[in-house]
Amino acid sequence: MNPVNSEHINLDRLEFGAQDKNNISLYLLRLDKIHPEISGNKWFKLRFYLDDAIAQNKQTIATLGGAWSNHILATAAACKLNGLHSIGIIRGERPHDLSYTLKKATEYGMNLIFIPRSEYKQKIMPPDLASREDVYLIDEGGYGEKGMLGAATIAEFYKQQKFTHICCAVGTGTMMAGLIKASGPLQQILGISVLKNNWSIEKEIKALLGENGQHIRYSVNHNYHFGGYAKYNDSLIAFMNDFYRHTQVPTDFVYTAKMVYGVYALLERNFFPPGSRILLIHSGGLQGNNSLLHETLIF
Ligand SMILES: *Cc1c(COP(=O)(O)O)cnc(C)c1O
Repeated sequence: MNPVNSEHINLDRLEFGAQDKNNISLYLLRLDKIHPEISGNKWFKLRFYLDDAIAQNKQTIATLGGAWSNHILATAAACKLNGLHSIGIIRGERPHDLSYTLKKATEYGMNLIFIPRSEYKQKIMPPDLASREDVYLIDEGGYGEKGMLGAATIAEFYKQQKFTHICCAVGTGTMMAGLIKASGPLQQILGISVLKNNWSIEKEIKALLGENGQHIRYSVNHNYHFGGYAKYNDSLIAFMNDFYRHTQVPTDFVYTAKMVYGVYALLERNFFPPGSRILLIHSGGLQGNNSLLHETLIF
């Protein structure tokens, strides 16, 4: 699969926050910089699926998502870059006006098929799609072993540094499983769940990891979802603006802002031992901020 601009990825030291007192340092891996639309972790999760599709001579990728899905847009853009057709199976009715995300996806040549929420939930494929030989299906959010293995390659950008903690946002858990797989035995992986009461996520991560990686210490925190997937409140928005003012780093309200907020809240509660070297993964997703009212964010 054609690479994106991985040379744009950098590791920023974060000077913002109260960490100095305990000799704790914070770093941010800027995966958001690789591409405006194939943002952050999505390219890493997609890469081995696309390689596999190309190797199998499939010309079309089909995948699922909602109207603001980073995964849908990333798939559309990545397919375009690699000369593949793409089909997005979208949850719900076709709206009168397409969301920013879906409009962009169609600009990348993606065909959209809208299916009722009840069918989406049960993952019932449109019948003509299920029987097509040229179609390679990728699960929602890129969940699956290839997604995990792709996400594990994120570690190449920070492996040389001795971080004690790696922190990331958790949706399907695919990225987190990849980070766990790629980590050393002395590192802790901390996931901040962006879904409400998603208690089965640990099991799903375990299922992806199989026998490997079980020895690594990891945990998912369920306290910073702000009411659930894509929910937010004024304090999250205020935090995003404040964080941007101090660091010039934009975050997205669905994933990365909740993760960064959660890490700072845990810092304040002395969750991290003195001397910790903490890496936060900026997994991208900035295009999703287009669903917010104008002027909500200062960036
Ligand atoms: C999809 C996404 C995640 C979550 O990744 P999972 O592998 O599904 O847990 C995190 N951050 C951003 C910006 C995303 O788009």
